[in-house]
Amino acid sequence: MKLHTKIMLGLATGLLAGIVTNLVLGESSRYHGALEFVIANATDPIGQIFLRLLFLAVVPLVTASLALGVSNLGDLRTVGHLGSRTLAFFVLLTVVAVLIGMFLIRVFEPGRNFDPAMQVQLMEWYGGGTHQVIEKSREIAFTVMTFVEMVLPRNILRAVVDMQMLPIIMVSLLFGGMLMKMPGPVRGSLERALTGLNAFAVSVVDLAMRLAPVAVACLVFGIGARFGFSMLKPLGLYVLLVFAGYTIHTVVVYSGFLALVARFSPVRFFKAARPVMITAFSTSSSNATLPTTLKVTRDDLNVPAPIAGFVIPLGATINMNGTALYEGMTVLFIAEIFGIEISLLQQAVIIVMTVLTAIGTAGVPGGSLPLIVLVMQTVGVPAEGIGIILGVDRLLDMGRTVVNVTGDMVTAVCLSRPIARADAKNAGFSNRNA
Ligand code: ASP
Repeated sequence: MKLHTKIMLGLATGLLAGIVTNLVLGESSRYHGALEFVIANATDPIGQIFLRLLFLAVVPLVTASLALGVSNLGDLRTVGHLGSRTLAFFVLLTVVAVLIGMFLIRVFEPGRNFDPAMQVQLMEWYGGGTHQVIEKSREIAFTVMTFVEMVLPRNILRAVVDMQMLPIIMVSLLFGGMLMKMPGPVRGSLERALTGLNAFAVSVVDLAMRLAPVAVACLVFGIGARFGFSMLKPLGLYVLLVFAGYTIHTVVVYSGFLALVARFSPVRFFKAARPVMITAFSTSSSNATLPTTLKVTRDDLNVPAPIAGFVIPLGATINMNGTALYEGMTVLFIAEIFGIEISLLQQAVIIVMTVLTAIGTAGVPGGSLPLIVLVMQTVGVPAEGIGIILGVDRLLDMGRTVVNVTGDMVTAVCLSRPIARADAKNAGFSNRNA
């Protein structure tokens, strides 16, 4: 049996077992304590081993693949060219995603006749979580200095310890740019060291992926068994619409870009992308998925290493199409529940803010929640309203992370063919470069 079939089986089995366990041994059951014990001492630790192996690979992989990718691009002009095309793709895909999401809410109005008693109850239930999210959102400030801090760390080791991806990416880009200018022997030895680091990270990912079938089952079992399915009833239409948005963006927009821009078969793409999509779904983290995304993009989608090494880490950090789609929908949905009219101008503000905040979202579970609060406040929606959707956020997070990482692979494929492909050949790239 192929590995991705095994992972798929693991996902289905874990999810099904989790849901059944939740329904049979729900909150009130006397076996609830035993269930928590099993999750805390068996399934969660196995899932964590998988996650930690993936995280172990992230920093060496990003550093090596970005620095080697940039230095192999040959000259800074090519880097600039690729950089601007990458950013243009990211912004375009993100804007399309927000528009799809906002359109769905405007048409179906899931918050219009929301039961006021349920609204109060949900906000009460999730009061604690809401408080934490609002506190976090207070720490966010958009100043020129925060931007400098975001991209150039005072201390790179702290950025590594905290896994702040943007500074790590910037320093790796700088390193790659400087490598180009170094004298041959120095450059050669540094590149050999980076290649070794890359090989180490790839072996760690291989090891993690061998654990994936069991680990994915364990991760989704825990989520399914703990999930509050009673939340799905009052929020059913909203959840359904968010998933419809994810599906439209993934199936229609991504396939359209693949077929029209890259002339790449969407069927072939989605077949290759399966392990990445499943890892994203079960971890809810673009960062944790990054090593798998990079491997599949290079090895199975045949994107030249310098392009994959450049686009994928950048995408995992700033290209969050699913997050933007979800943010736009959530702000409008909560506004509807509160009976707040959102003008056309405010909708334009929401689009700009969601694109910016999606860029700033960390690729970790629930990374976008504090930023949604910021968007809500900008258009006059009470921050406490976020409590209404907290109960279903984990489920929606799994879906949006899948859309986020898929968008990165689509961009990499689009940029690698046909133009960049030709550039790559001219510049003498080869997949062996990184
Ligand atoms: N979990 C998402 C990711 O890692 C971020 C978010 O929207 O919360 O891509």
